[in-house]
Amino acid sequence: MLVDKADSTGDRSEYPLVDSHVHWDQIPEEQMDEVIRRAKTAGVHIALSAATGPDSCRRLLHYQQRYPDFLRIGFGLHPEYESTSDDVLDVLRLIEKHRGYICAVGEIGLPYYCLAEEERSRPPSGSEKDRLMPFLQMAAMMDLPVWLHAVHERTLPVLEMVLQAGCAVPCFIG
Ligand SMILES: [Zn+2]
Repeated sequence: MLVDKADSTGDRSEYPLVDSHVHWDQIPEEQMDEVIRRAKTAGVHIALSAATGPDSCRRLLHYQQRYPDFLRIGFGLHPEYESTSDDVLDVLRLIEKHRGYICAVGEIGLPYYCLAEEERSRPPSGSEKDRLMPFLQMAAMMDLPVWLHAVHERTLPVLEMVLQAGCAVPCFIG
């Protein structure tokens, strides 16, 4: 829970906040200075940003190098967006190559919102597992935590795969 302890001057510095989930790559570059300035004014000291695919990873890397004290980034492949097996390989390569710049593997998980309602409680398909398991294994191998997209009825199957791969989960992302 975030407690707003701002005093009459608006100073929140006693309670530094961490924004745990904004897709910063979706913010246009020319707006970044202003968005970060406003976030800092509101007391946010650090922001975590999860990637959604290969282009998103590259853009976040660029932003992280521009704002190294503010942004912490993770590389992943968002399960609600369409992706190919080449995208899986591309992001895995990026994780390996830029291990020193990222602090997590994410956003990864199983699709939920993009499925028809009657599909949402079914067990993960082979291709869904193929889009998730390599990232969990890579995270375990690289000793990185995972940022999960684990929603409603599909939370449990995601966690079962996490356990199977043996990686750490610092937080859940709905
Ligand atoms: Zn997200």
